[in-house]
Parts: sequence; structure tokens; C-alpha cells
Amino acid sequence: MKNMPATRQIINISDQLLAWYDLHQRKLPWRAVGDEVPDPYRVWLSEIMLQQTQIITVVPYFNRFIKLWPGIKNLADADINNVLREWAGLGYYARARNMHRSAQIIAYDHSGQFPKEEAELLKLPGVGPYTAAAVAAIAFGKQATPVDGNVERVIARLHRIRTPIQDNKLIIRSLASQIAPKTRTGDYAQAVMDLGATVCTPRNPICSVCPITEFCEAFSYEETDIIPISKGRKKIPKRTGTAYVIFNDANQILLYRRSKTGLLGGMLEVPSAGWEEHKQHDELIKEAKRDTQNLTEIPGSVKHVFTHFKLELVVVALRLKRHKRFLNQRWYSLDEIEKIGLSKLMLKVVQHFKSTLES
Ligand code: SF4
Repeated sequence: MKNMPATRQIINISDQLLAWYDLHQRKLPWRAVGDEVPDPYRVWLSEIMLQQTQIITVVPYFNRFIKLWPGIKNLADADINNVLREWAGLGYYARARNMHRSAQIIAYDHSGQFPKEEAELLKLPGVGPYTAAAVAAIAFGKQATPVDGNVERVIARLHRIRTPIQDNKLIIRSLASQIAPKTRTGDYAQAVMDLGATVCTPRNPICSVCPITEFCEAFSYEETDIIPISKGRKKIPKRTGTAYVIFNDANQILLYRRSKTGLLGGMLEVPSAGWEEHKQHDELIKEAKRDTQNLTEIPGSVKHVFTHFKLELVVVALRLKRHKRFLNQRWYSLDEIEKIGLSKLMLKVVQHFKSTLES
């Protein structure tokens, strides 16, 4: 590699990646195949869903969204609570709200036309540098280089970067765009993504089938198991609290909708206490405790990991004496509770509660 002129190296790397992609690309429902023209709506929708989420998880959500809302205007006109219900389980719920707002901006402020340039895409809610570059390259063939964890890993190995990726973000970005070709930019972006996801994997990369082995310095120095270097993860703090499943004789449980902003924004959940700063449910919980005919702490606990903290919730079941009304809360039938779009955390709480009913 070192004796080869730089420009020739670059052409060879991108050419070989593209040739490999033509044969080995993953079949994904948002990808254009053969001569098909990429659909910006599908590309954008998939990229929003793929933020922090694996492809295997995203595919069924993507297919369902496309069936329900086949175009940008359909999504823009959808009720946000329906969008959140369909998003439930995918996590990072701000993405769903931002996606819905973006759909409205594109449908009504841009007459349904997606912005094509990275700078314009970046103005949409929920679109960061990676997503803007990915949509610009994949949907519109723009000269843009999306750089995510997969791409960083490939570049770090290719160039044998022996210091932590976190300290080399700018140089990796620059190296990634130097390798990128002038044409087929969308295919190239997807080729690097596929290579990072299927061949140049975090552990045990399959160098024997890699199309760019001859250029890879980590491979030639036998350092693929130590590169990329990681600074190590910070210990995630732990929070604890109590979730209150308030239920009644009609086999219903009480849920409220969280405020639109912040963690799990806009999602339905049972009242809880002790793990968030606000004390907005304290009065309701006190009132429910006063009215209860039966208070049970369910053995065990519910554990959930958010990006910045781990959560452990004890679940307390409160059976109310009568069908009582509470301000801003609604009763939901327990039989349907798993279909109304609860977050993963709340699904765990409800399932934990239901397990005691079944035992
Ligand atoms: Fe990754 Fe191995 Fe290919 Fe290098 S040769 S890019 S380490 S798969």
C-alpha cells in the first residue's frame, strides 16, 4: 500500500468496495435495486429509524410505517399519537416527534419536495450531520460522506489509527471523504455501511472475504483485534424508583401521557416516583393509596437501560375500590394494553404486573 500513489489507492479502494457492493449488498426494503431511483422518503425514514437502532429491529417498523403512511404527506397528516403508538418499542421517542414535524415541514413548507443539500437537510428536526450526509448521498447522489461507528471502525483499521477513535473524529471524517468516489456516492456510502456491519465487524472481522484487505494496515500489521482503540465506557449511573400499576374491578389500568419533551416524551405510562426529578404523580399516588382496597408490592423488579442511566423499578399494584376518575389520566383495558403503543420500559412494567395475575 505504501508504494502506491495516493490517488490510485483511493480509486482502487472505492472501486473495489463498489464492485463488492454490487455482489454482496444487503437487501433492505428502503434500498433502490438495480436501475430503480432511490425514494427520498424511504431513505430518510429508514435513516431516522436507524439512529441508535439495529437494522434487524428497524425492518418491521419500516415496513409497517410505509404501509400506514406510504408518502410524506400521509405521515405529515397522521395524528402524532398514532405515530408514537406505531413507534413504540423502537426507543428514543424524540425521533418520532421530530420525524413527524419534519414530515410536516417537507409536506407543507417545501411542497412535498425533500431538500437535496446536506445544509438544507440539517435544518430539519432530528436530522444531524450523519443523517443529512446519508440522505444527500443515498437519495440524491450528492458528494456527501456519512460517517457513523461502522465507517469509523473501517477507516481506523484501514489507516491503522492506534489512538482512540474519540480523539480522531475529524481526521477519520477527512480520511473517509478522501476515499469516497465522485460518482455512485450513495452506493459507496451504503457499501461502507455494509462492510462495517457484515465484514469489518467490531469483533473478529472476516478479513478473508474483505474486498480491501490489500489496503488495510491493521490487517497487514495483524492488529485488527486491537483497532479501533476505545477509551472505554464510562460507568452508567443507576436510578431506582417505584412504578404504580393502578387497576380497577373492570380489569383496566390507569395511564397518563408524558409531556411532549424530554425522556419518553409523549408516551403513555403508569405513574411512578423516585427516579425522575419531578414529583408530578405524588398526589395521585397518595390519592390512589387512600382509595385502595389492596396494595401489593410485586416480587422482583423491572430493569431497563437508557442511554445515560440504568433504571430499576419496583412495581406496586394498587387495586381501587371503585371505577374512579383522575385528572389527565385514562383507564385502558388490560386485555389491549400491549397493543396501544407502550414504551419498552412500560411494557416490562405491565408484563411484570400481569405475571402476578396469571400465577
Ligand atoms: Fe476490516 Fe479486515 Fe477488511 Fe481491514 S481487512 S477493513 S480489518 S475486514
